[in-house]
Amino acid sequence: QAINPSTTHVAVLAFPFGTHASPLLSLTCLLASSAPHVTFSFFTTSRSNASLSASKTVLPNLTLYDVSDGAPDDYVPSPIDPEEEVELFMKVTPDNFRSAMASAIISDSFLSFAGDLAADVGAVWVSLWTGGPCSLSSHVYTDLLRDRVVPARCDEEMTLGFVPGLSGLRVRDLPEGVVSGRLDSVFARLLHTMGQEIHRADLVVLNTFDGLNPAVLSDLKTKFRQCLPLGPINLLAPLPPEPDRESCLSWLERHEPRTVVFISFGTIMTPPAHELAFLARGLESARVPFLWSMRDAGRAKLPHGFLERVKGRGLVVGWAPQRAVLAHRAVAVFVTHCGWNSVLESLAGGVPMIGRPFIGDQRINARVVSHEWGIGVGFDAGFVSEKAVKAALEVMVRSPVGEEMREMARARAEDAACAVDGGGSSRANFERLLGLICERGHV
Ligand code: UDP
Repeated sequence: QAINPSTTHVAVLAFPFGTHASPLLSLTCLLASSAPHVTFSFFTTSRSNASLSASKTVLPNLTLYDVSDGAPDDYVPSPIDPEEEVELFMKVTPDNFRSAMASAIISDSFLSFAGDLAADVGAVWVSLWTGGPCSLSSHVYTDLLRDRVVPARCDEEMTLGFVPGLSGLRVRDLPEGVVSGRLDSVFARLLHTMGQEIHRADLVVLNTFDGLNPAVLSDLKTKFRQCLPLGPINLLAPLPPEPDRESCLSWLERHEPRTVVFISFGTIMTPPAHELAFLARGLESARVPFLWSMRDAGRAKLPHGFLERVKGRGLVVGWAPQRAVLAHRAVAVFVTHCGWNSVLESLAGGVPMIGRPFIGDQRINARVVSHEWGIGVGFDAGFVSEKAVKAALEVMVRSPVGEEMREMARARAEDAACAVDGGGSSRANFERLLGLICERGHV
C-alpha cells in the first residue's frame, strides 16, 4: 500500500481527567517516533497537556493542541465533586475537538462522538480503552446487567456469571452508574453510550495483553471489528523517568529486598480520616518499613504524632516516582486504590497488592487482582480496623502466603515483559496498529 506522506495526519483525542491522557500520549509518542512520515496532533485541555510528563517529549511530527475545558477563567476544581469538571468539559464537546481533521482519529473510548467526527471526515476511528477489559465489559453489557440485577433488588453479593468472562465479579464490584447510584448522571450516561457505541470503532485498542484476562478478552474480541490488546502501555511505551525530588529511590536502596510497603492512592483519591488512621496505626503496629505517597489532604488527617513516631522507619512524600518504586527490589507489597495504571505498574514490577478501591473501575480491578490473578488481598469495604490492616501487612510482607503471591506476581511480570518484547503479542498488535495508521485507514 502506497503511503502519501503529505496527507497522512492522525488526530488523537484525550479525555482530560484523572490519568486518562497519559497512556494515550505515551502510545502516541511511540507511534510518532516509529512513523516519522505521519503527522500526529494530540488534543486535550491545557491543564491536561501541562500535567503530562510525556508532553515534554519533542518529536518533529507530533504537535500538542489545547482544547477548551468549558470552565470559567477563575474556575477552581471542586474538592468534593470530581464530576463537575467533567460536566463542564462535556458541555463544550465536540466543537472543541472539531478542528481534528484527520485520516485517522484515535480517541479515548470515553469520547464516543469521535466516531461521528471520524465518519464526518472519512477517517478511521481507533478507540483506546485505557482501563482494564473487565470494566469495559461491564459497560458493554450495561443493559443486560440492568435487566438482570435491578429487578432482583440488587443483591450485592450476586455473581455476574451471566456476563461472559465476568463470573468472578459480584454486583458490588460494578462501577457506580451501571446498576446502582445515579444512572442518569452525565458520567453514567457517558459510559452507557460508550458501551453501546464502541463497537462502531474500526479498531478498539486495549491497555492489557493476551492471556491476562483470557475469558473476558476473547468475548470482547467477538464484539468489535478489530480488537488489539497492546499493553501494558507503561512497558510498551515507557514514559521518561519521573523526577525523584524526595529521594525515594535512595531511601529504598537502604532496605533489604522485599521488606518495604509502598502506599499510594493515585492522583484523585484520599481515604477518609478514620481509614487513614487505621492504616497509619496498622503500619505502626506491624513495624514494617513503608514509603507513603500522600497528598496534602491526607497529611492533615493523620493521627497526632504519627510522623514523628515513625521517623526512620517510614518515609512520607508528596509524590513518588511510582513506576521506579514498584520496580525496586526492596518493595514487598503495594497498598493501592487499584486504578488500572497502578495495577499494571505493580504487575510489571512483580509486586502483589493490598487493594482499597473507592470509585469507578477500582472495585473491579481490585477483585481481579485478588480473585482472578491471586496476587493480592482486598479491603473492598475499606480499612475497618488497625488490627485488620496489621494482619494484612503481616501476611503480605512476612508470611509464606505473601511470598507465594510475590512469586505469582513475578510470573505475571514476566508474561507482561514478554508481551511487549519483540515477537510478543502486544508488540505484534502495536505493529498492526502502526501498519493500519500508515496505510491511512485500510482497516
Ligand atoms: N503516580 C506517581 N506517583 C505518585 C502517585 C501516582 O507516579 O506518587 C502515578 C502512578 O504511577 C500512575 C498514576 O499516577 O501512573 C495513577 O494512575 P491510576 O490509574 O492508578 O489512578 P488515578 O490517579 O487515575 O486514580
